[in-house]
Amino acid sequence: MNIILLGPPGAGKGTQAQLLTERHGIAHLSTGDMLRSAVASGSDLGQRAKKIMDDGQLMPDELMIKMISERIEQPDCAKGFILDGFPRTVPQAEALDTLLEGKGLPLGAVIEIKVNEEELVSRIETRINESEQARSDDTVDTLRRRLEVYREQTAPILPYYRDKGILKTVDGMKPIDEVTEQIEGILKAA
Ligand code: AMP
Repeated sequence: MNIILLGPPGAGKGTQAQLLTERHGIAHLSTGDMLRSAVASGSDLGQRAKKIMDDGQLMPDELMIKMISERIEQPDCAKGFILDGFPRTVPQAEALDTLLEGKGLPLGAVIEIKVNEEELVSRIETRINESEQARSDDTVDTLRRRLEVYREQTAPILPYYRDKGILKTVDGMKPIDEVTEQIEGILKAA
């Protein structure tokens, strides 16, 4: 099954995607992780990405669409994949539809992990305090910018999928295992 996880930064998309990957043997495709690998490799793309990520802004749509298009061709995606961090804009969502249609791949579920912003800021503060190797975009200032970018550029994806009748929402304020169970319920019904 092919799944999209949506939600603001810090909502737990990565954590849930990881758990679902282990349970269902489907690939976890995190565009943020792909970009962080590029940063670590020191490539041209990585150098460009680092600036944009540290700024809390988004990479260009075309580049991200190409990245995902190539990634879903890989053999580990044959059983399905979970998209975490993509799409992040309406043009990305539209391009993804075209892409999946062209490849004959159905979209099984689009799941929004809903959390409130105050909780997100406090989660990131905890992550900064607890982590020895905090991500370089893990600062409260960057988070606030990322939340703004989420509200302006990513949240409009929600009505896009709601209008298609495939958007489901889970309560991301619940403990991790309860969020997983809510998601599993949606996947069973899909
Ligand atoms: P994430 O790990 O998903 O929170 O992504 C970290 C950063 O990578 C984001 O703040 C963006 O700068 C960049 N990024 C990740 N995915 C995308 C995407 N689909 N479109 C544009 N930028 C992205």
